[in-house]
Amino acid sequence: MPKIKIADKAGFCFGVRRAIDLAEKTVAKEQKVYTLGPIIHNPQEVQRIKNKGIEILKDPKRIKSGSVILRTHGIPLNIHKQLEENININIIDATCPFVKRAQDIVKRLSTDKKSKDKIIIVVGEKVHPEVVALVSYGNGNCVVIENVKEAQDFKGNSDLSIVSQTTQAPKNFDNIVKTLKERYKVKIFNTICKATFDRQKAAEKLAKNVNLMIVIGGKNSGNTTRLAQICSDKTKTYHIETVDDIKERWFKNVNSIGLTAGASTPDWIIKDVERKVKEFDAKCYISNKI
Ligand code: SF4
Repeated sequence: MPKIKIADKAGFCFGVRRAIDLAEKTVAKEQKVYTLGPIIHNPQEVQRIKNKGIEILKDPKRIKSGSVILRTHGIPLNIHKQLEENININIIDATCPFVKRAQDIVKRLSTDKKSKDKIIIVVGEKVHPEVVALVSYGNGNCVVIENVKEAQDFKGNSDLSIVSQTTQAPKNFDNIVKTLKERYKVKIFNTICKATFDRQKAAEKLAKNVNLMIVIGGKNSGNTTRLAQICSDKTKTYHIETVDDIKERWFKNVNSIGLTAGASTPDWIIKDVERKVKEFDAKCYISNKI
């Protein structure tokens, strides 16, 4: 009789919950509501919001009037300004406060007298929307570094300030800082969000104690993919988006099953998965404790 355990921290983080709440409140009282790109990295939740009447657009020029909800991980500064210039557009800023903090630090570093000529290293994924937006606040002073190899190859002619994409793995950030410190004077701004770290720790702890882990979340979600990687280092792991991805054969000869979910996975999907897994063994014992 397998036991199903859910990680201590799983599913919506503070920033995502806040963004979804803002979106729901806005669409409940207004007619034309848009987001620029998906508001969060979960296709099913984005579809649910879309069904309520929110239109997702890629091109800001297509929005002539109405309310625009800015996604959790921010938008580039020039696009923000472009939207602000149109008095017929009402901006609902759902950028997570932790992301905002990182943007404010980059903006301050690139404008302050003391630091404006120094290079700002952004530890993160170059193509990730959060990083693209973050770099836009840096007045051309940012260099994005993804890994230790890039830190070793980096050549710059000033002291460095270092910030991070909020969802970076602390270990990668620390290793990059360590590498750069060998050759440069650095000032560190650790802008990694605790929500990501907490989910990773809880998932790892659970994965060590079960035969099978199911990680729930968008395949386009960086933090969910990272959770799946961490779990697969400890036990057999499947990354799924919805109940439809679950296969009964996974549960043969399995004594304990762990569930976790990325920061953009809504509770209703987690509950669906839990229900489906229970169907495979009606006598499953559900515990929320590790
Ligand atoms: S993961 Fe952290 S930074 Fe990103 S939205 Fe959630 S709380 Fe904000």
